[in-house]
Amino acid sequence: MRAELGLIEMPSRIPFPKRNGRNGRSHEAVDQARIERAVREILMAIGEDPDREGLQETPGRVARAYVELFAGLRHDAGVHLAKQFDQEQAGDDVVMLRNIQFTSMCEHHLLPFTGRAHVAYLPDHGKVTGLSKLARTVDVFARRPQLQERLTGQIADALVEHLDPRGVAVVVEAEHSCLKLRGAGKHDAEMVTTAFRGVFTDDRALRAEVLGMMRGR
Ligand code: ZN
Repeated sequence: MRAELGLIEMPSRIPFPKRNGRNGRSHEAVDQARIERAVREILMAIGEDPDREGLQETPGRVARAYVELFAGLRHDAGVHLAKQFDQEQAGDDVVMLRNIQFTSMCEHHLLPFTGRAHVAYLPDHGKVTGLSKLARTVDVFARRPQLQERLTGQIADALVEHLDPRGVAVVVEAEHSCLKLRGAGKHDAEMVTTAFRGVFTDDRALRAEVLGMMRGR
């Protein structure tokens, strides 16, 4: 029962700065003690003994993992994308970061889906952001209970909102644990989703060009 006592002494709520709610952000801190109680319940429900040696620390580990996996609920992509700089030469050139690795959690099964996002935009008047900010933006939306389709659209919409570019193209390729677990023949199945905004919506030649750049690896 040592783990139980430790659990009670732990601060159950880690404070986060409160912000105005947008992008579905949560104002609430993660209630780790509540996750730990719930994981204990799950272990008992499947017929396990949560107090046996190998499982004693499991609820705490799961709680800490969830804090990390769902950190995006308390983060705002705008904070990252606000770091902009003017690059006059960049006006007509596509800016792309491809193969951004991410891990997200399928909101239907709470199982991970992992893959790569390719993010491209066509700046307007040279208004660009750092490439690392594109990667951070992917993480802000990936680290939530998520659907791949929505993840793809949210990344694109955040770029539209904060960079005001002429166009955005986002492609996400991911393997879903919930699909892999459903029997043979689906282990390598990969889901591909796209989101196009602005000039990439209508200009098929431009869209083909940016998709070609994304595949060129
Ligand atoms: Zn799923």
